[in-house]
Amino acid sequence: MDAEQDWAALATMLSFTNAQVAADHRSWGRRAGSLIGLLLVFTTVADAQGLHVATADPTSKGVWRIPDSPQRLPDSSELHRILQIPAAPRLTGEGANASVEKPVWHFSVIAGISQVTSNYYGGFSAAKTLIQNQFVTINSRFNTPGAFDGVLQFTVDSIYEFTGDPLVQIFQAHPLHDYRVVYDGFPSQGGGWYGPPTNTIHHSWPVTWFGGTFGSYATDGIVHEFGHARGAIDLYALQVDAGKNPVNGAPYNAETSIMNYPYGVTIWDQHSVGLINLNADQVYSNSAYVTGAFPTSINILVRSGSGAHLPGTSVKLYPADWYSGGVTGTPSLVMSTDENGAVHLAPNPFGPIDPPEPWCGRPWCIMYPNFLVAAEYGGYSAYGWMPLNQVQNVHLAKGDSGYTLSLVLLVPCGCPQQGDINGDGVIDVFDVIEVIGVAFSGSPDIQNPACPKTRADVDNNGVTDVFDVIYLIATAFSGGPNPVDPCGP
Ligand SMILES: [Zn+2]
Repeated sequence: MDAEQDWAALATMLSFTNAQVAADHRSWGRRAGSLIGLLLVFTTVADAQGLHVATADPTSKGVWRIPDSPQRLPDSSELHRILQIPAAPRLTGEGANASVEKPVWHFSVIAGISQVTSNYYGGFSAAKTLIQNQFVTINSRFNTPGAFDGVLQFTVDSIYEFTGDPLVQIFQAHPLHDYRVVYDGFPSQGGGWYGPPTNTIHHSWPVTWFGGTFGSYATDGIVHEFGHARGAIDLYALQVDAGKNPVNGAPYNAETSIMNYPYGVTIWDQHSVGLINLNADQVYSNSAYVTGAFPTSINILVRSGSGAHLPGTSVKLYPADWYSGGVTGTPSLVMSTDENGAVHLAPNPFGPIDPPEPWCGRPWCIMYPNFLVAAEYGGYSAYGWMPLNQVQNVHLAKGDSGYTLSLVLLVPCGCPQQGDINGDGVIDVFDVIEVIGVAFSGSPDIQNPACPKTRADVDNNGVTDVFDVIYLIATAFSGGPNPVDPCGP
């Protein structure tokens, strides 16, 4: 089938527009480079809405699906580079680096393999051995880094062979096992993680592709899917291409992690570790563990290069949609900084959906996974990224004290109202009264935006006291010098 027809057919089946599909197609194609022709055949619809697809099985309506592998293979140059690097000695066995005190988190797995796939690998008995060996590596990937609070142990308790459509296998209940894996070496569509209540990994990996269904890249891919099974999100879904950022043209690249780009990667990022630790030995049934992982507060703090607070700064949040690779050109939120140059974001701009059931309609029941934050003052701008994982990491780490994104606006130093405390354009008796109030009665000491000192600190020594009163009396009444300019002469 022609690749474009394939896409159109998938789009129709899954009720997507061709535009949406084409957008994903380009996104995956960018990562996949010269393999795009091959990818088109096996790539499935992987946009945000795709996580909540009405599948071919009418009983599985609302299944939460994250179609991942095998769309995101390394491109040929990347593959070449990886193959050139001698493999480092790898520790084997579960918990090789894990402390003996760690609890074992055990998960049972039932694995089905299509008969054509097992035949290709020498029969069912040989295929069983390949599956068991792959799980030794999967367990090692989770435990060798020693990143988790427990030892994860995925055990294949049951292996069977099936004929017919592998997609049917995906939706079979498995009440005696935590997870099902469907091995499909001759796939008709891409695979991925089918979330609760299905809890199945469709290991869709052609036998002829990059070492085949049990090759090292295939195993990298299935480790990523088990990362989802334990609660981790797709970090690549937060990324932004420079060309799809109409606001300031900056890209956002997520951390190196198995949950970003799994091929040749053995690192777990902090957010994935935190979520997987949250779930510990429990199989989650909805996204409450994600929607509940926000810090006590989310704040944006804007300062000038000299460290002054910048009240009245416009702060805009431009959302990035899941898997879109871009930010919208229209802010979802516009606010102004308070007297401390801060914005307190409430309600939560990430938009956690309540209740966070699998059919909530957004990935992990979060509206937006990332924001480009713009601060604008006096014609100057500063930008920063506020991705979901960095915000939640504050909560996932112990001692949640709120999240703050600090932006520095490089406005020129400017202090036009030193000594003119009431801001009426002249320094006179009323300002003297004001400075007395500041120095002795606790009146507020106003600080101009972009000025590193307060208006009443007329001698520019960092405090407002009796010497500022004396100084300002001289300025107002006896021809004394003007207040010292904190920005220099
Ligand atoms: Zn994924």
